[in-house]
Amino acid sequence: MADTLSANWRSFVTQLNGVLPVARRVTDLARRVAYSTDASFYTLIPKLVLFPNNTEELRRVLQLARRWNVPVTFRAAGTSLSGQAISDSVLIMLNHHWRNAWITGEGRHIRMQPGVIGAQANRMLTPYRTKIGPDPASINTCKIGGIAANNASGMCCGVDHNAYHTLAGMHLILADGTEVDTHCAQSLTKFRFKQKKLLQGLADLRDEVRHDASLKAHIEHQFRLKNTMGYGLNALLDYDDPVEILTHLMIGSEGTLGFIAELSLHTIPVAPVRATGLYVFADAETACALIPHLQAQGAEAVELMDSRALQRVTGQLERVGKATLDTHSVALLVDISAPSQTRLEAQLNAIQTGFPTRHLQTVCEFTQHPQTIDYLWQIRKGLFPAVGAVRAQGTTVIIEDIAFDLTDLAAGLQALNQLFERYDYREAIVFGHALDGNLHFVFTQQFDTPAQQQRYDAFMQDVVSLVAGRYNGTLKAEHGTGRNMAPFLVHQWGQRAVGIMQRIKQLLDPGAILNPGVIFNPDPKAHLQHLKTLPPVDTLIDNCIECGFCEPQCPSRDLTLTPRQRIALMRRLPLLDAEQQATIDRQQAYLVDTTCAATGMCATSCPVNIDTGAWIKQRRSLEHPQAAQTMARHLAGSHRFARRSLTLAHWASQALPVKVLPATTRVARRLWPALPEYFEALPKGASTVIPPSATFTEKVIYFPSCLNRVFGAAEDQPPLAEVITRVLNKAGFEVVIPPQVEQQCCGQPWQNKGNQQAASQYEQQLEQWLQQHNPDGRWPVITDASSCALHCQQGSAENKSNQIQELTAFVVQHVLERLEIRPIEQPVMLHTTCSSTRLDEGRYLRALANKLCTQVSEPANISCCGFAGNKGLTCPELTASALASLPVQIPATASFGVSNNRSCELGLSKAAGITYSHIIYLLDQQSKARPRAPTATP
Ligand SMILES: Cc1cc2nc3c(=O)[nH]c(=O)nc-3n(C[C@H](O)[C@H](O)[C@H](O)COP(=O)(O)OP(=O)(O)OC[C@H]3O[C@@H](n4cnc5c(N)ncnc54)[C@H](O)[C@@H]3O)c2cc1C
Ligand code: SF4
Ligand code: SF4
Repeated sequence: MADTLSANWRSFVTQLNGVLPVARRVTDLARRVAYSTDASFYTLIPKLVLFPNNTEELRRVLQLARRWNVPVTFRAAGTSLSGQAISDSVLIMLNHHWRNAWITGEGRHIRMQPGVIGAQANRMLTPYRTKIGPDPASINTCKIGGIAANNASGMCCGVDHNAYHTLAGMHLILADGTEVDTHCAQSLTKFRFKQKKLLQGLADLRDEVRHDASLKAHIEHQFRLKNTMGYGLNALLDYDDPVEILTHLMIGSEGTLGFIAELSLHTIPVAPVRATGLYVFADAETACALIPHLQAQGAEAVELMDSRALQRVTGQLERVGKATLDTHSVALLVDISAPSQTRLEAQLNAIQTGFPTRHLQTVCEFTQHPQTIDYLWQIRKGLFPAVGAVRAQGTTVIIEDIAFDLTDLAAGLQALNQLFERYDYREAIVFGHALDGNLHFVFTQQFDTPAQQQRYDAFMQDVVSLVAGRYNGTLKAEHGTGRNMAPFLVHQWGQRAVGIMQRIKQLLDPGAILNPGVIFNPDPKAHLQHLKTLPPVDTLIDNCIECGFCEPQCPSRDLTLTPRQRIALMRRLPLLDAEQQATIDRQQAYLVDTTCAATGMCATSCPVNIDTGAWIKQRRSLEHPQAAQTMARHLAGSHRFARRSLTLAHWASQALPVKVLPATTRVARRLWPALPEYFEALPKGASTVIPPSATFTEKVIYFPSCLNRVFGAAEDQPPLAEVITRVLNKAGFEVVIPPQVEQQCCGQPWQNKGNQQAASQYEQQLEQWLQQHNPDGRWPVITDASSCALHCQQGSAENKSNQIQELTAFVVQHVLERLEIRPIEQPVMLHTTCSSTRLDEGRYLRALANKLCTQVSEPANISCCGFAGNKGLTCPELTASALASLPVQIPATASFGVSNNRSCELGLSKAAGITYSHIIYLLDQQSKARPRAPTATP
């Protein structure tokens, strides 16, 4: 048997040669281990990871898999929580070739490839005031393929707006490679003709179910609730046409019935006015009794939080209002939206008249203030990470996802609390989408001893009896059956319904090659197999819950690894044998360290605030400390050398035929990888001349960054310092660049290289220099690189006399009001740097761009450009990969781009083929002094 299996495997692998190039077939152990994780507490190491670029490649892979009986699992963003996006066979991952989306019908529908992130679809729909129905809390990360295949939903979606109910069309590929695209009449006709047997099989099941009154009633009950256990058998009741049945069965099928290659959804209108309020009730009964009233008044979301959950966030609650909590308190966060202000007010009045008069504490009265609303929702969204952030070392955070009929919600909640007591899950908290009777409970669990596994098992058996047995509820309302609930499918559905599901599987995937072990699993203890253990690696990353929320930000995600995969690789390493560890050791440096830009962009979306970049910098500090120390000691000399080299290289590139110098440095880098690569967008060395400034009573101290003291301006542009001086002079500020600036550095490049000692030394020296020339921070201090501003502000102890501001932030706050702006009509590309995002979520840079041009174009799916100071020179493939999708996103009429960090601008210019420069150039071009601006004194 083993021989046949391996013979099959060998044939499969050999024949893949004709389907996918080697670069898109990952076989090395290091990456396979890194890809072994999704957001669940299960892990499997795939034998092979494939990255098909299109449906044709995917179809051919499936045909081979079916022919050689090789199991395959699809992965979109890998944020699944029930273990359905992992495999010990072939893992098929969606790369950037699956990220296209098209809006149709003036925003009434959207057609998407499966790699489109949910939030990206919503950003595209914003101008039409619509959104997609499914709204999982993971929407900033998870992708349409996974949203549909899990039938994900969230706070506002309920049952009515999930992918099943909003499905408008689908392009799908079945296990045998058969395709149907319901958007195309020809494809449909062909499919109906060729797949008569399959469609008849579905029609027979439809008729059988419809004739079985008790099964029909059971299905209707299960889908009145939120339910992602098993297949969507409601498709057999809701649709007559077997093709419609098929496409709707695909929703929630967790990759076990076929591949969703494209999906169209009907969209949902976004109401223009909204109010949110937060109320604490004496107990669950009082709070739950109010839910039907809120439902009747059109509440869009009602989030329930139990007292233990509230205890976790008391500090945040106190910032909006006061509440005295006891062990029975239950809060409701209520969100109402309406088509008009009058209607909203009427709804709010009606809601408030239904509130109980006794034992009600108003933490925050209904408000329409956007910042307060955001804050209230942050409190709610922070609950899951709040448990993750304080969990004991080695424990896993588990989030369960059940639903009760609304009439059972209060009793269900109480019974759940009794189980927490019985099994000593003292840290467990409960919150959930009350309108749907959907509760999430979060607790921590260790899995490394049999006793701990037994405790979890016994608890889960009791949860199953409580939810499916006593209350006829659902065991997975949102997160899918996966491996976690597969053993309990029959407990919820009964043998008859599971039998129908198995016949559906048999019709569509007779060889059971699609995601085996998920939804159906013959092992009654499948939920205890392949559990993740989380050995400590480093305190900087040990809190990681492997949710994957950091992945879309990471510039190396399509080149090597994401932050989550870096962490997973290091966590799984101790579990491998010595030989495997040695194999991984050989690759680790490049995958984990070299290709990390270390800009910490991942931290901006991490629910537990992990900055993987900081961890990588710490790892770097253990390597090559000597070289960094030497460079640090000779700052001015190193800069002089770098400037001269750049100028020399520039002249050489002018003298030589185009591309000779870039090609030469590329070849040389094969021998000396540390050698920087030359490319055409690289400028000459910067000018060292300090531009003269007009004299005014108001001054600004300008600290030019090392970046701009080394890299000159673009070919046809004046030096940056000159332009900054001109703009600030126009606004009536004198610009002062104090002497010996060439010896100053904020410390950021050294910290980036892991040389904390040099970084601290420069930080102190800079502080002294500023104190000397700007005692007690008399005048504002600005710098021209967002990365340096971020470093200064992060490192800035509150007691520092001089706080250094990022240039665009200073301009927006103090300069714009003194200038007359004539916005440019032509589209302008904007790149919001990681540092700007980390400083102020890119607010100032975007505000300035929107002031200066009528059409600001910010490309999708690009956050960090990967240039990271010098990575664009020493690891150019990182920037190339991070910006691969940039050129196609540049409108034909856009001829330049703006940003606020010189090194990023160079990488962007190289990738885009148009010049990116500091936004201050555009401000200079589009502005003049207001007539009453202060005038220069002679
Ligand atoms: C912190 C956190 C919060 C979450 N909150 C919610 C929530 O509020 N609501 C909710 O519903 N879920 C939630 N989830 C779970 C998860 O994020 C969602 O179910 C999400 O929709 C999964 O999408 P994905 O892109 O990550 O898919 P993946 O995890 O990659 O895959 C999901 C399933 O779809 C299959 N699949 C992927 N692509 C395809 C395709 N093209 N064709 C066929 N099958 C495919 C996979 O094999 C897998 O079985 C949360 C997860 C986390 C970590
Ligand atoms: S680093 Fe943060 S965002 Fe990334 S997987 Fe870990 S917990 Fe999630
Ligand atoms: S610092 Fe940047 S490159 Fe490194 S893991 Fe985080 S996002 Fe990725």
